[in-house]
Amino acid sequence: MPDHPLRTSPEGIRQREMIMTTFTWEGADVTIKVDHEKCTGSGECVASCPSEVYELQDEKSVPVNINECIECCTCVEVCPENAIIHSSCE
Ligand code: SF4
Ligand code: SF4
Repeated sequence: MPDHPLRTSPEGIRQREMIMTTFTWEGADVTIKVDHEKCTGSGECVASCPSEVYELQDEKSVPVNINECIECCTCVEVCPENAIIHSSCE
């Protein structure tokens, strides 16, 4: 399986959308979208997520452990670019 961050996600399924910079990962219970045009790679989501859902790949946030999400919404709250949309935090 290819290991490119924008092609694969260990526990989620990524889909391209009409807005090509926004990527969607679907976990068992939640869906997380990250706009990689907005994402500056600041890392707040990576540092603040209690479940270590995110990692930076090519300086963009990717929810590689989406099924570990406890739906606390911290990632949405801390992102300075409003780049994260979470199905439980709308
Ligand atoms: S909602 Fe909470 S647990 Fe889920 S990805 Fe965001 S910070 Fe992590
Ligand atoms: S907090 Fe927002 S801007 Fe910073 S890495 Fe995460 S998604 Fe990107």
